[in-house]
Amino acid sequence: MNATVIDPGATLGVLGGGQLGAMFATAARRMGYAIAVWDPDPEAPAHRFADHSLIKSFTDSDARKDFTRRVRAVTYEWENVPADLCEQLEHEVPVRPSSRVLRVIQDRIEQKIFLRAHGLAVPAFSVLSSPEELSRHALLGYPQVCKTATAGYDGKGQWKIGRAEDCAAIAQELTRTMRPGSRWILEEWLPFERELSILVVRGADEAMRTYPLVENVHEDGILRQTMVPADVPASVADQAAAMAREAVQTLDGAGVFCVELFLMAGGRLLINEVAPRPHNSGHYSLDACTVSQFEQQVRALCCLPLGEVRLLSPAVMLNLIGDHVLLATVSPAVQDLLREPGAVVHLYGKHVIRPKRKMGHISFLAGTPAEALAKASAFRSRFLPTRS
Ligand code: ADP
Ligand code: MG
Repeated sequence: MNATVIDPGATLGVLGGGQLGAMFATAARRMGYAIAVWDPDPEAPAHRFADHSLIKSFTDSDARKDFTRRVRAVTYEWENVPADLCEQLEHEVPVRPSSRVLRVIQDRIEQKIFLRAHGLAVPAFSVLSSPEELSRHALLGYPQVCKTATAGYDGKGQWKIGRAEDCAAIAQELTRTMRPGSRWILEEWLPFERELSILVVRGADEAMRTYPLVENVHEDGILRQTMVPADVPASVADQAAAMAREAVQTLDGAGVFCVELFLMAGGRLLINEVAPRPHNSGHYSLDACTVSQFEQQVRALCCLPLGEVRLLSPAVMLNLIGDHVLLATVSPAVQDLLREPGAVVHLYGKHVIRPKRKMGHISFLAGTPAEALAKASAFRSRFLPTRS
């Protein structure tokens, strides 16, 4: 692997300009780099932190040439950027994680086949190549979940199937939303005990850093809350860390990765998915760690030494989703938050509020995870409705 150090002063490129791109840009600028953000959406939050904004389609070849001329290295803020583009960029500049890793990860089917082939436990699944195949998979039992192989996120592109009778309506929905080459993955809806995740950073020199295991709560497929550290036995945390490191090593990935896991009854762990980038469940690291996931993304991209991973405080992160952002940012909620010891507010500056859109988050830091949870729960029950 080409592991030439990229010194501060250089321009780093990021594909995708959402909040993850914005937090990467902020970390990179603090470390002395300039930033080029490429996102077709002029309203994308990261443009506000960019030295160069490219507001062009990802298929625009002039934009690609312009971007390549400006940047010394490229990363991306989520896995749904075109792998073909990353591969083309790779001819000119380092892209981390590589297009090869991105291709495996951005297709749920390829990702699960890869992990399973390398001995990593994943949920049982079936592959659908056409919507009509949906009803032939009753063997898995119900409930099941059907997910698009590509381009899904935050529970989008997923359908929970409660009973065999629901298949016809969902098959229609798959037909309505399908694109050429669409495939889907079908999984049993698992009665997991907890959802967990863990960040692993791997440098181009193959050095690794592992963050503490965290515990996540999702509603409607979207992350609501993360608690760090997870309240699980040390044996579970050790096993999760070992599986996550193995997954990233096997992928031969360079960059920040997040491994999402299901903890099943009896302590068995299954990998739900791997993200080739900083993750919403790692936002606690901005306020509660020596070095955040975004700073590690910069370090890994630039072949700098990876940072020490030390949890400075237990924390609970609450997402502000949809119109939560209004409820949480008008008096008296915001005044309470600003007075609350250990509460840190992050707002992404998105102008348009949509249901299920991530608008910001709050980290609650406290002496113990239970205290952090109590603070988050008190805020949540006072100011945020359960759905948004
Ligand atoms: P996304 O890319 O949208 O994050 P995931 O596969 O992680 O897709 O699904 C989102 C959430 O939906 C998960 O975090 C979990 O809460 C729930 N979920 C997904 N698959 C299953 C499953 N097989 N059984 C139970 N819950 C699931
Ligand atoms: Mg997920």
